[in-house]
Amino acid sequence: MIICRNLAKARHDDAENFMATQIHEAAGAREQATHMAEIISYDPATGAEVGRAPVATAGEVARAVERARAAQAAWAALSYAERGHVVLRARARVLDEMDAIANLISRESGKPVAEALMMELVPTLDLMQFFARRTARLLKAEQINIGQYALMGRSSRIVYKPLGVVGIISPWNFPWAIPLGEVVMALMAGNAVVLKPSELTPLVGLKIGEVFQSAGLPDGLLAVVTGEGATGAALVEAGVDKIMFTGSVATGRRVAEAAARKLIPCVLELGGKDPMIVFEDANLEAAAQAAVWGAFANAGQACASVERCYVHERIAEEFTARVVELTRTLKQDVGTREGADIGAMSSARQREVVESHVRDALGRGARVLVGGGRGGREKGSFHEPTVVDKVDHSMVLMREETFGPVLPLMTFRTEEEAIARANDSPYGLTASVWTRDIRRGERVAERLEAGTVMVNEVLYTHGIAQTPWGGVKSSGIGRTHGRQGLLELVSARHIHVNRLARLHDLWWFNYTPRAAELFRGFARRFTTGSPLQTSLLLPRMLRRFSERRGKKRH
Ligand code: NDP
Repeated sequence: MIICRNLAKARHDDAENFMATQIHEAAGAREQATHMAEIISYDPATGAEVGRAPVATAGEVARAVERARAAQAAWAALSYAERGHVVLRARARVLDEMDAIANLISRESGKPVAEALMMELVPTLDLMQFFARRTARLLKAEQINIGQYALMGRSSRIVYKPLGVVGIISPWNFPWAIPLGEVVMALMAGNAVVLKPSELTPLVGLKIGEVFQSAGLPDGLLAVVTGEGATGAALVEAGVDKIMFTGSVATGRRVAEAAARKLIPCVLELGGKDPMIVFEDANLEAAAQAAVWGAFANAGQACASVERCYVHERIAEEFTARVVELTRTLKQDVGTREGADIGAMSSARQREVVESHVRDALGRGARVLVGGGRGGREKGSFHEPTVVDKVDHSMVLMREETFGPVLPLMTFRTEEEAIARANDSPYGLTASVWTRDIRRGERVAERLEAGTVMVNEVLYTHGIAQTPWGGVKSSGIGRTHGRQGLLELVSARHIHVNRLARLHDLWWFNYTPRAAELFRGFARRFTTGSPLQTSLLLPRMLRRFSERRGKKRH
């Protein structure tokens, strides 16, 4: 017996209830041991069923981790070039199926096909070639300068070893790009992977597994376990060596607590409330277009969306008028229809969050300049691109992550004020500064509390495989992408060699009065870091050597 449930949170709470009719639960089915339930995935724009995926039980997740561990040793024994060949073969499959994959992403998440192509496929195709070709160089063993210890014939180097099995838990907003990037990096570093995609986008997650399988990745090395939150929680408990989690702060905290109990590390890529500062000398047209794209791309459901825009008061009127004008030109439609700029939001629940933020702002004196509602649409979880002004930091819209197509505009007078406002947030994922004076842009960038600050750019650096991605404050812990991201997926091992082993160390037993005198000398001179100072210890060192030789003879 099968339980067919739409576990896609909140899609089934949608007021239009086109989905609710499809939910049915068979009586008594809870006794069934495996695959009791499946996720029915719906297109949030039309309500049409996209497909179904099983809900993996805790036992199935644990078995996937076991199989992954069994497959990992042989994979880790391959060279980087051999692993890279498999990744490049998978990349070729993605290219072959590009349009079908973009279409699937669009139908499962609601985003326009154009965004699925440009914001999900293009960055991952680039990331795949980058890590397939460069991981060997990025993880090359490193010699460490150990200062005066080198004068004693010692050397140290760091070698990077795979962690084992990496658990990846990913969200629905970039259902392809976020997990795929981490899968590629983890595999290239020599790990096996168990991936748990969001319950809203399980089919895209399964497609990632399929692409690698058809590219000849060894069996078991990459498992995709679909399910709801409980499946993610089971993955943390299942004996993986690290968790790469991307999602909300609330779930991230739960994952970190569970990982701490298991004493396994985790990377947390969490939410944002990203500020954009537009100075009076900015290229106004570019800034206005960037604000509109940065706030409304992916229907505002990007962790790095522009969620707060601070505009210098001298240009505020002109900038606002242009932003409103540009927003009016955007075409909102079902994502698979050609020409759609903005699709549906991925779930009705997320739309309700957006609506509640706008309501709260309006109740406190904000003004909607364009948009503000569902655009008269009866079906699908659409929210119009919305520009709001007369906002302040007492409003939820300016404090909590909205994660929807809303662009609040607020003015400032001075650089200090702009920086203070931008930093007045518990989040710190990305930020942007707009000015023609690059020196000023960089100066301000260094004072903004964010993992990435862009000068005259917004949103897109997750798409650069070479640069690290991650937040400060509540936006997360750890990094993904770039060398820093790769280092999260390996264990750094220190190898120390003594080439003068015949000269026994002076700090070994016995601790005679002469030894204590030498150790005092070490404390005063060696620890200065100066070879000259240390050389003054030579007579005492020689006395200690001869004392120890004498001891050995007796
Ligand atoms: P959630 O935190 O709801 O879910 C993220 C993932 O965690 C999903 O796969 C979810 O499964 C799973 N999960 C839920 N409960 C648990 C649990 N107890 N233990 C383990 N895993 C669990 O986030 P959303 O999917 O709603 O994504 C939106 C959020 O992600 C936003 O806050 C956004 O800012 C953030 N995000 C951050 C990014 C970054 O790089 N910093 C990038 C993209 C998004 P299920 O869906 O089945 O419940």
